[in-house]
Amino acid sequence: MSAVASAAKPLDLAAIRAQFPILQEKVRGKRLAYLDNAATTQKPEAMLRAIDYYYRHQNANVHRAVHELAERATTAYEGARDRIAAFIKASREEIVFTRGTTESINLVARSFLQPRLQPGDEVLVTGMEHHSDIVPWQLAGAKTVAAPVLDDGSLDLDAWKKLLGPRTKLVAVAQVSNSLGTINPVADIIREAHARGIPVLVDGAQGIAHLPVDVKALDVDFYAFSAHKLYGPTGFGALYAKRAHLEAMPPWQGGGDMIRTVAFSGSTWNEVPYKFEAGTPDMAGAIGCAAAIDWLDDIGLDAVAAHEHALLEYGTRRLAEVPGLRIIGTAPHKAGILSFVMDKAHPQDIGSVLDMEGVAIRTGHHCTMPLMERFQVPATARASLAVYNGEDDIDQLLAALQKVARLFA
Ligand code: PMP
Repeated sequence: MSAVASAAKPLDLAAIRAQFPILQEKVRGKRLAYLDNAATTQKPEAMLRAIDYYYRHQNANVHRAVHELAERATTAYEGARDRIAAFIKASREEIVFTRGTTESINLVARSFLQPRLQPGDEVLVTGMEHHSDIVPWQLAGAKTVAAPVLDDGSLDLDAWKKLLGPRTKLVAVAQVSNSLGTINPVADIIREAHARGIPVLVDGAQGIAHLPVDVKALDVDFYAFSAHKLYGPTGFGALYAKRAHLEAMPPWQGGGDMIRTVAFSGSTWNEVPYKFEAGTPDMAGAIGCAAAIDWLDDIGLDAVAAHEHALLEYGTRRLAEVPGLRIIGTAPHKAGILSFVMDKAHPQDIGSVLDMEGVAIRTGHHCTMPLMERFQVPATARASLAVYNGEDDIDQLLAALQKVARLFA
């Protein structure tokens, strides 16, 4: 019961789980303990129904037709933009629909950063960034400079400050590290960077479903996230950007919908955010994302965060019982991620044994190769939490890990 107690509205875990059909699946003949939520979350009925309803009753291409179905599709699709904007306290013109965090960051790299770059210019990242918050800056031609990560997995903020310099064109930082669970001090980072006139992108991939986000209070320039880590569909996400930035940025992909006029002598662009949305969009993706947000908001992110935090503490305590297990990432401010290695078993072996016990975790470098090098491990095993997890999932993980410890003694 302790895991579901919170200062906010307590969660009814059984009722929440009942809304996720996939959690009823047996895997390897066992009860499923799904602890791979940082990779992707499972989907509630409300979100599945919204997508089903869209294709059964509303489907048509958006924006360009006068018939009734097109109107329904456009209303639902643009309604989703309002819902997504409201969720992070943005205005609808500041929400660009993308395929997800990765595409959102690539958009900023190509359209915001690249035109402003001089040779030798830098993007200041951190040593715990996901590859998709490193490689797009490099592709744009910037040098990526990484602030160090302390032994507990916290960002070394003093060192980070010292790396801000005249060549820093942009600061990019994960709100929450997908490999360590560290919650970065993004408000402080934004304040410090802005004091030097440097814009900031926050990679919200691991934050959006776990912490309330207010882009206006943060004063962040860019915030990127994916729907699939937010109980929504795959292949859809968004970029929040301050309107002034969007107005100043050139389009990055050409095609239908992003234009105002087209002539062989040259073309002009649609207003924001449509200037950045070339081609037929993922209507069902947007609608599914908005439905997932409705569902999550109904529970309340404060309650979700409290639940996951209590479970993280329980999991941290229980993992200490496993012989030879070491947690990588013990920062004081952490979200629900438990990354670990074991003395005798390779993460791949841990993952395989756990799978046979019905426990789904992820093993590997988690798209954070520089961070693995920092901690001098080839990979970690990572259990990551969501709102539907409970102490029973952690107990099942523990029993399976004890088995690993016995097998690899
Ligand atoms: N950043 C972080 C911190 C992530 O965890 C992920 C997904 N693992 C991404 C970016 C990329 O997200 P997506 O693959 O949905 O574009």
